[in-house]
Parts: sequence; C-alpha cells; structure tokens
Amino acid sequence: MLRIVLQSKGRLNEDSTALLNEIGINVEDSKRSFLAKTPNFPIELLYMRDDDIPQVVSSGTASLGIVGLNEVVEKGLKVEIVESLGFGGCRISLAVPKSVEYNGLQWFEGKKIATSYPNILKKYLEEKGINADIEIITGSVEIAPAAGIADAIFDIVSSGSTLISNALVEVEKVFESEAVLISNGHLDSEQQDILNEMLFRIASARVSRDKKYLLLNLPSSAIDEAVKILPSMRSPTVMPLAADGWCSMHSVVNNSELWEKVRQLKAIGAEGILVLNVDKIIL
Ligand code: ATP
Ligand code: MG
Repeated sequence: MLRIVLQSKGRLNEDSTALLNEIGINVEDSKRSFLAKTPNFPIELLYMRDDDIPQVVSSGTASLGIVGLNEVVEKGLKVEIVESLGFGGCRISLAVPKSVEYNGLQWFEGKKIATSYPNILKKYLEEKGINADIEIITGSVEIAPAAGIADAIFDIVSSGSTLISNALVEVEKVFESEAVLISNGHLDSEQQDILNEMLFRIASARVSRDKKYLLLNLPSSAIDEAVKILPSMRSPTVMPLAADGWCSMHSVVNNSELWEKVRQLKAIGAEGILVLNVDKIIL
C-alpha cells in the first residue's frame, strides 16, 4: 500500500484526479473524503491543502504527493522530485503598478514587495543584489499596492488577467512552475514497484496524448514513398485492398505533424484518409 497526498480542492485537484483516472486508477469523488481508497490499485489517497503537501511527504505521513513545484521550492523541505507532470503550469513574477516608470531591477531597491513566496523571492533578490522589504501576505496579494500595503508584488501569474484587472504590470519572470510528483525517498520495495508501475503508465499516457492514428488507401506503387513519409513506431502496417493495385496503410503520427503528413500523402495519391484518437500507447 502506498499513500499519495493530493490537493483537496483548488487548481491542481481536478488535473491530479484526471491523471490518476487516465492511468487506470479509479478515483472516486475526491472532494468528499479526507482519506480514500482506490478500488483497483494498491494506493490510498490523502487530501490536504497544497501548502501542507511538502511537509506531509517529507515527514513520511504520505510516501508521494502531487503539488506545484513553487510550493516544494518555497517550503524547502527534503523531498525528491520524481516526475514533472505537465499540468498546473504557471510562473511567479514581480509586478509593479502600471503607473510607475519601471527602469529595471534597481527599481526594487528599498521598496516593499508583498508575496506568499518569501523564500523564493529572498533568494532571487540576494542573487541580484537588491535590498527590498518582503511583506508576507497569504491571500489576495494582487491588491497590496492599491491598498497601500506594498509598492509591488511577487505572485503567481498564468494568463495575466488578474494583474490587468488590478492595474499591475509583470516586469520580471522569476520562477517557472508546474505540478510535480514528489517522494520522501523512503519507499520499501513493494511501494517502489507500485511507483514504477505508475511511472510506466504516466509515460504511456503522455506519449499517446500527442498521437493520432492514421488510416488511408494508397496505390500500391506509392508504398515506398509513403513509408518515407510515415516512419511510424516500427514501420507502417500495409494491407491489400480488394481492388487490384491498391492497399490500406495504417500508422501513428505526431499530432503536430498531422496536416503536413496528410498533405504529402495526398500528393502521392492517398485517398479515404481517416484520423483517429489514440487512447493508449504501451511503451
Ligand atoms: P489551497 O487551499 O490548497 O492552499 P491555494 O489557494 O493555495 O489552495 P490554488 O490557487 O488552488 O492554491 O493553486 C494551487 C497551485 O496551482 C499553485 O500553487 C500553482 O502551483 C498552480 N497554479 C497554476 N496556475 C495558477 C494560477 N493561475 N494561479 C494560482 N496557482 C496556479
Ligand atoms: Mg495553498
């Protein structure tokens, strides 16, 4: 049995649950309980506020956790980052009121900056040789300048709309974050096997997300050219059609290359092209 701590509600809750479901671990309605079992996989889920997740993992209360890298680095506790998960992307930036004339980092010298991330900010300011006061605020940091609490803020930005609605401008991007899987590094061999199985499934899910399955009909004379266009996992599947001189070709392509491949295949005579979603690719 392996215990994993997830955010109980908030921005990472849904994506964390979706990831577990995507890798075949059925997670029941997470918002109702503090501790939940999964019916078809030997893990137990613990739900906490994201601020507490690094501590719960480093103390060993849970073996694994899913949390933003920002929280991990801010708390500075001893945990291992096992895997970046590709969701919950954001950055922590310095922002100033749009009315000020910002002339570079020196502007912050002697100023007061409001933030919920004092440790990350302190380290950054030290590296840059700036002396500024840090005002710790745990919520609604973006209102601090208008409320006269601080001259500037250091806060999470994703789309930037919160900054705009508070008449602030992002001036320095300091820290890039995304959701990460963390561990306390003290797994017994059974727990390590469970983690390995999860990592294998996560890798498969990630690969399949960007793939499409392509089926098409092709004059048999064009097979060699089509194989150059569709290298596929090993090589494309080719099957004869009932009509003489024609074949059906199947292959998996990267979504980002799909339309370019379709254009090239049409140019060599491909017809009846079908594009299907790929549910899983087992690596
Ligand atoms: P909790 O009640 O669990 O303490 P919270 O209010 O501190 O929740 P959320 O706003 O739910 O936190 O954000 C959780 C994490 O989601 C952040 O720490 C960050 O890693 C990530 N995140 C991604 N985009 C954003 C965003 N636009 N604003 C805030 N956090 C974001
Ligand atoms: Mg929090």
